[in-house]
Amino acid sequence: MKSDSQKFSKKKSIALVAHDHMKKNLLEWAEFNKGNLVRHRIYATGTTGKLLEDRLDIYVHKLQSGPLGGDQQIGAKISEGEIDVLIFFWDPLAAQPHDPDVKALLRLAVVWNIPIAMNRASADFIFSSGLMDSEYERQIPDFNLYLNREL
Ligand code: PGA
Repeated sequence: MKSDSQKFSKKKSIALVAHDHMKKNLLEWAEFNKGNLVRHRIYATGTTGKLLEDRLDIYVHKLQSGPLGGDQQIGAKISEGEIDVLIFFWDPLAAQPHDPDVKALLRLAVVWNIPIAMNRASADFIFSSGLMDSEYERQIPDFNLYLNREL
């Protein structure tokens, strides 16, 4: 498949989201990585963002709370090329009222080929990558075949 690309700059736009039972875990991780996080632009769903601001004393671009549309807002930003990395600690042990939104967000992250961490170990691996602080040429699949499909 032919592909296009988009350059991630050194300063990345990172979206952080955590379901309620995972918020403590994400906050601990974020606190440990504060030195790295402050070099980037941070976006988050509403409640996660507020907790991050209170705990880390950093500025966070806060969107709506996840169940009220925040996951969809992040998904839209991914499709517009405005989010470079998604850290999403979703809860594997609890049903969510906005499950379709969660699924849609994860789907868009895959469609647009952005790095996603869905647990702490993956977030550690992404954050310890030298690519976090360098430019990166992200391949974007060529969707022309789909866009120009015969109808
Ligand atoms: P919240 O949303 O940060 O507003 O709690 C998280 C989510 O459930 O998507």
